[in-house]
Amino acid sequence: MSYTWLVTGSSRGIGLEFVKQLTTDRSNTVFATCRCPDSSSALQSLKNASGNLHIVQLDVRDEGSISTAVCIVQAILGARGLDYLINNAGQIHGTDKFAPFSSMLAADLIENFLTNVAGPALVLQAFLPACEKSQRRVVANISSAAGSFARKDFGAVGAAYCVSKAALNMLSCKQAKDRADMIVVAINPGSVKTDMGAPNAPLLPAESVASMLRIIHSATAEISGRFINHTGEEIAW
Ligand code: NDP
Repeated sequence: MSYTWLVTGSSRGIGLEFVKQLTTDRSNTVFATCRCPDSSSALQSLKNASGNLHIVQLDVRDEGSISTAVCIVQAILGARGLDYLINNAGQIHGTDKFAPFSSMLAADLIENFLTNVAGPALVLQAFLPACEKSQRRVVANISSAAGSFARKDFGAVGAAYCVSKAALNMLSCKQAKDRADMIVVAINPGSVKTDMGAPNAPLLPAESVASMLRIIHSATAEISGRFINHTGEEIAW
């Protein structure tokens, strides 16, 4: 079977690795979206090496950019639908990214929400018509264990980011409930060595993404509305 995939935030880190692994299967059609296509040389080299990659500008905080991306993607898809949407773009905003609650700024909380919560919400809303044309209709929201209430130790992770990822988890629940015709899952990639991740993080992007793709590719209605670890187990909200 050949499938169509769209990944947000694919200029680097986990998003770029999703695109790398997806394009190795030449039957896939992959839309790698990012804020500045011209400045991601890694994506451009992947495009030159593979015949199944489309790079599309998309800033998840900019509704105009999302609408333009929808038009470009739909023109390429034609009668086909979007089978898999991976809402990966995310950021830790903040003058102090590690600020605990007591020194957290409202402005930083809002910035984290714009990228990590409003972004994935707007992207799915805009791509719904494309998803509806697909028989698969799988949406993976890349969340974080830092958004789990059950977590005992948050280490140095800042409060604003944690609150935004908890909100992304609720968004995933609402999306799954409202759209019972789709499969929507929140996934924790683990602690991954990227620009955002800890320098001593135990996982490489290749390992985390290979595990997440197994889950996303084989997703069934049973996992819709759940929070799943990259290793496959369910995580407590
Ligand atoms: P990176 O910082 O390496 O990459 C973040 C990506 O998101 C970049 O491609 C960046 O693009 C993109 N991005 C940021 N803001 C926007 C925006 N407004 N519109 C479009 N793209 C945007 O982070 P990771 O790869 O580590 O993180 C990927 C996801 O995984 C995030 O959602 C993160 O929260 C989550 N995660 C990561 C963990 C880790 O240990 N690394 C742990 C738990 C969750 P640009 O190059 O333009 O800045």
